[in-house]
Amino acid sequence: MHAHRTRLIGAALSVLLAVSLAGCSAASGALAKPVGVPGHGPGAERSGGLTDDDGYIPEGSSLPLDSDVPAVTRLDPALRAALTSAQTAMAQDGDSADITITDGWRSERYQESLFAQAVTKYGSEEEAVKWVKRGRDSAHVRGEAVDIADAGAMDFLNRFGNEWGLCQVYANEAWHFELRTAPGGVCPAQSPDGRG
Ligand SMILES: [Zn+2]
Repeated sequence: MHAHRTRLIGAALSVLLAVSLAGCSAASGALAKPVGVPGHGPGAERSGGLTDDDGYIPEGSSLPLDSDVPAVTRLDPALRAALTSAQTAMAQDGDSADITITDGWRSERYQESLFAQAVTKYGSEEEAVKWVKRGRDSAHVRGEAVDIADAGAMDFLNRFGNEWGLCQVYANEAWHFELRTAPGGVCPAQSPDGRG
């Protein structure tokens, strides 16, 4: 009961946040996932023949949880189910935000293309690996991570995601969620830096 009431308050705050962000593009930009950050968000230079089969999601678009493409269908079923349950609870609480994803499962080929971009950007593999994980080191490649599109949904999950085991993993990535605790458990402390 307490958790539910708390969630209602949170939902109200989410709505307020969404309304205030709608009128303030600067604040919205600060919360939104940066475009072109290695490991996150398709950059303009990203092509290399990546397709839906790599989990590629074009810049500026996001997918609902019932999408029939590999970025969603190859997610860990438990992660997808937890997100769907959270989405249902949000709707029941009157929160109009939707959980859609800008990144979900990625192929190793996709992850390696992100790494190659980082090598170009940072000048060496030694430096790039500080910013982008390789292959199955990435939770996205294992299907164990999603990046959320909507600021209101991020806010909801940051506050209440632990009810379904969903946790923000990196302090600097408000959009990146993984199953990191049992439902109703306590999320582990966030890492200071994300290398999704
Ligand atoms: Zn991520």
